[in-house]
Amino acid sequence: MREIQRQKISAKAQQFTESVIREMTRLAVQYGAVNLAQGFPDFSCPLELKQAAYQAIEADVNQYAITWGDKAFREAIASKVRWYLGLEINPETQITVTCGSTEAMAAVMLATIDPGDEVIVFEPYYENYGPDAILAGATPRYITLHPPDWRFDETQLRQAFNNKTKAIIINTPHNPTGKVFTREELTIIAELCQKWDVLAFTDEIYEHILYDGNQHIALATLPGMEERTITINGLSKTYSVTGWRVGYIVTTPALTGAIRKVHDFLTVGAPAPLQRAGVAAMQLPPSYYEELAKLYHQKRDNLLSILDQAGIPYFVPQGAYYIFAEIAKFGYKTDIEFTNYLIKEIGVAVVPGSSFFSQPEKGNSFIRFCFSKKTDTLQSAGERLVKLTAKINL
Ligand code: PLP
Repeated sequence: MREIQRQKISAKAQQFTESVIREMTRLAVQYGAVNLAQGFPDFSCPLELKQAAYQAIEADVNQYAITWGDKAFREAIASKVRWYLGLEINPETQITVTCGSTEAMAAVMLATIDPGDEVIVFEPYYENYGPDAILAGATPRYITLHPPDWRFDETQLRQAFNNKTKAIIINTPHNPTGKVFTREELTIIAELCQKWDVLAFTDEIYEHILYDGNQHIALATLPGMEERTITINGLSKTYSVTGWRVGYIVTTPALTGAIRKVHDFLTVGAPAPLQRAGVAAMQLPPSYYEELAKLYHQKRDNLLSILDQAGIPYFVPQGAYYIFAEIAKFGYKTDIEFTNYLIKEIGVAVVPGSSFFSQPEKGNSFIRFCFSKKTDTLQSAGERLVKLTAKINL
């Protein structure tokens, strides 16, 4: 019976496993562990968003929105993109609203990739990109980002581009390492994209979460890149509403046309009342983003000092809300074993590093902590993690 059922599973679905990040959240609940695994805030979203969402439901905004997004929301996105990135975009022809940036990346790949096309992915990478590429029939070409500053080797990147290359995925600020791509790095990428006529899919969901003077540079703003960049973003991280599932894509009218078709048949549309609340999000003043960055700076420093006390070495993130840490010194065979020990014995859930790599052994010596959590949550994680120093022979 089981064998027959296995035969019915598509070759594509057999090539990837369930999300390790989401599995960690389930284990955290099962074992009562403090969840520093999945990237969601455990604190409130801005009041302005909640009020706008209540009002939209009160006003019976309960039916399908226009498939590519509520007009007022698209106009608000265009204004914010003009203010923050300096890009002039037409909300009628250049924006697609999606069910989170997760759907956005899948729709972008399905709309642009043909089986056999190669897609360049920097590794480590946010785990969704792997299954997205498989579902679209793409062949991923991984380019390693090297610690401690997670730079790529320019020669290796140059060699990866070829006639089959259709796109490159860039995620800045980067999950899981916290790297913020520099203008110099993006210029190399831009030059190669133009030389090889390649698209760039940029996941900029952490664009406002930056530390120590690091600046977010959108690839689309580099010379010659607006016409070949597909910028992906969403409300989840910047406005602390990961469960609302509202994202958006900005690109050229021609690419937008293809993406809108795919998006329509995948989901019809994103939640209508929450798109209205998205207008309130986009209209928040610049001070909101300054406060957000300050808040996350404190949280980052808080978790860094917790890791110091627990004796866990780490890479200081320049952006996003994760800390990538090294576990080799603890003497576990794999990151999975160490993660299980942390959840079951120490009471803290994290994400095993291997879930960010194409080959598990490359990520075996890393784990990822998420610090988008209340001070109390971080403190109780700290009280538990400190036990590591006593339990393990350092
Ligand atoms: N992209 C990156 C780099 C992420 O880290 C995450 C969530 O952790 C997502 C996309 C998912 O975003 P959304 O909630 O908009 O689907």
